[in-house]
Amino acid sequence: DSVFAAIAQAPEDPILGVTVAYNKDSSPIKLNLGVGAYRTEEGKPLVLNVVRKAEQLLVNDLSRVKEYLPIIGLAEFNKLTAKLILGDDSPAIQESRVATAQCLSGTGSLRVGAEFLAKHYHQRTIYIPQPTWGNHLKVFTMAGLSVKTYRYYEPTTRGLHFQGLLEDLGAAPAGSIVLLHACAHNPTGVDPTVEQWEQIRQLIRSKGLLPFFDSAYQGFASGSLDADAQSVRMFVADGGECFIAQSYAKNMGLYGERVGALSIVCKAADVASRVESQLKLVIRPMYSNPPIHGASIAATILKNSDMYNEWKIELKAMADRIISMRKQLFDALRARGTPGDWSHIIKQIGMFTFTGLNSDQVAFMTKKYHIYMTSDGRISMAGLSSKTAPHLADAIHAAVT
Ligand code: PLP
Repeated sequence: DSVFAAIAQAPEDPILGVTVAYNKDSSPIKLNLGVGAYRTEEGKPLVLNVVRKAEQLLVNDLSRVKEYLPIIGLAEFNKLTAKLILGDDSPAIQESRVATAQCLSGTGSLRVGAEFLAKHYHQRTIYIPQPTWGNHLKVFTMAGLSVKTYRYYEPTTRGLHFQGLLEDLGAAPAGSIVLLHACAHNPTGVDPTVEQWEQIRQLIRSKGLLPFFDSAYQGFASGSLDADAQSVRMFVADGGECFIAQSYAKNMGLYGERVGALSIVCKAADVASRVESQLKLVIRPMYSNPPIHGASIAATILKNSDMYNEWKIELKAMADRIISMRKQLFDALRARGTPGDWSHIIKQIGMFTFTGLNSDQVAFMTKKYHIYMTSDGRISMAGLSSKTAPHLADAIHAAVT
């Protein structure tokens, strides 16, 4: 008998499992709104033109080799990625106060940051929003942090539970880590306003909490790279410390290339340099060093002003298509006279709409309409098109009436 005979069957991942179920469905009208990956109007994955161009340049450059990268990754990429999130003129960069490590996309950056904190930080409690991306709890728990939640979303208004957020963070023990979505909060699509961010910043700084930003959607929320980085930049402008996990999965469409970075903004250059030396000790036994291809693509685009501008145009086109799908879905529900207030569909930000549909309604839509989404009622607007929006509106209408 196998020594593993007693191993229990694990459940599918709540997000990636949606695609597993979708793939098993043979209906021609099936629609996958589960996973957060961009699709074109034709429902196809998109490789950006500028990414193809960068890859061509890389392939044609015969001086490029496949040697190992350093433990913290491609130096050029690390410089450019810190500049992208913190801004061209960031004093923190000029003063060499930022330690950056290229990591395995957003998830890997979060994990390396969490492992570092578990080893080197005195306060091992991290507060994550309620709700949040399902993987946060697992990433931080596996790294050895203790996870608590703060109120974030108010179902009755389908907006921010700002009072609850301030109360919960206000009651957190000094030094606690706070996970913040830099923009386009997943799954709710609800972000604080600039004024609210400023109040959150003041509270976090006055209580001595440590902000850890998850930036998975820079440029994808508003179409502007700078606007979507504003929350992070407010926290860096005050001279305080923070962690930032960046992902290029969505904004460059580099999902499978696993391109991302962890930046730790410190108060002084000598601290940043010691932090970097310890980051290497965290990374070396995990995966030794990161892959070279994706980071080279990103660096090629970020350092060339023509390609950078081309990227910004393609990024804006993706963001605009998502925003226009919100409008189309909202209009389609209005045209059907679907009961309820659906204005949150056009108010929410980023890739997802948090519909407010419950798990029974989601199950109904999957069974009767072959529409797949996570059971919390989150739909990926990027998976929708002008052709499929009416079908989704029919399903939502039927589910709530
Ligand atoms: N953080 C949030 C909030 C996300 O939505 C995602 C992806 O869905 C990630 C992090 C990490 O994604 P990746 O590891 O593919 O960069």
